Amino acid sequence: MTARTSSTACLAFALLVGFVTPATAAEPGPPVPDAVAHEVAPGVFTLYGDINPPSPENRGFMANSSFILTDAGVIVIDTGSSLRIGEMLLRQIRQKTDKPLLAVLNTHVHGDHWLGNQAMVADTPDVPIYGHPKMLELIAQGAGEQWLAIMMNATNGATAGTELVPPTRTLDDGDELSISGLTIKVHHYPKVHSTSDLMFEIPARGVLFLADNANNGRIVRMDDGSFRGSIEALQDIKSRVSGAKVLIPGHGQVGGWEIVDDYLGYLSGLREVVTALYGEGLRDFEMKPQVSERLAAYRDWSVFDGELGKHISLVYLEVEEEAF
Ligand SMILES: [Zn+2]
Repeated sequence: MTARTSSTACLAFALLVGFVTPATAAEPGPPVPDAVAHEVAPGVFTLYGDINPPSPENRGFMANSSFILTDAGVIVIDTGSSLRIGEMLLRQIRQKTDKPLLAVLNTHVHGDHWLGNQAMVADTPDVPIYGHPKMLELIAQGAGEQWLAIMMNATNGATAGTELVPPTRTLDDGDELSISGLTIKVHHYPKVHSTSDLMFEIPARGVLFLADNANNGRIVRMDDGSFRGSIEALQDIKSRVSGAKVLIPGHGQVGGWEIVDDYLGYLSGLREVVTALYGEGLRDFEMKPQVSERLAAYRDWSVFDGELGKHISLVYLEVEEEAF
């Protein structure tokens, strides 16, 4: 209960100093159409969000949400960008079981992964919600409000009516949760895709949730992350988690370790070519044609064109910093 108390205190403090405005009871946006719950491992189900960025068409449903069935109930991993997406996820859960929600796990602070928490709490008011301490800290500083606004703008209001329901408990690297006899091992690296990412390993089901640290067919924002940190973490997780056979990315299709290798290929290829061109004296805005050529294998990935320029600039800054 300590984590719940401190999170409440953080939010109360944030309200007091004006970081967060109280959510208003806006009329909810349109319901989100049902997505298929694919059984990707025994008793582990994944709903695929659209591979493209949030839009009025996908109503913000563009990240993967999953749930795990146990004898006593259900564990949910990531709840989507809105109340309506959370409600849709719950409908798919209720098609499989009437058992209660035992826990909600949030992989990181980006709103497409947790703003659906509201629907979980509406179903099970005392369900514990877990996230990294950094996620709670960022939400207390206003990240939740920012993500509500990002989703409202991108979907032209389809995510309306969504209220912030942050994690109530914390998890950090090396923690092990035991829920209804199922062990969940927690992996965290300080700066990867963001600063608040948790990867969840379920040894009994042979599953590893990668969060947005590795994605399949989709480039993701790295504004608050580190390319170098991501590369080192993905290399490390390969030796740390040897037993997993089914890897669930934050975005894109579930698969095996080739997901990590492919994503590492993008990240390290980007760093290699930007480092080489930096050495030749090129500025970041001059690099795009050669970088795009080197990363030709990823050109058909979603958001490749949109994010590449920004990714080059971010890697350029990292390389420049390391040079001094
Ligand atoms: Zn993310």
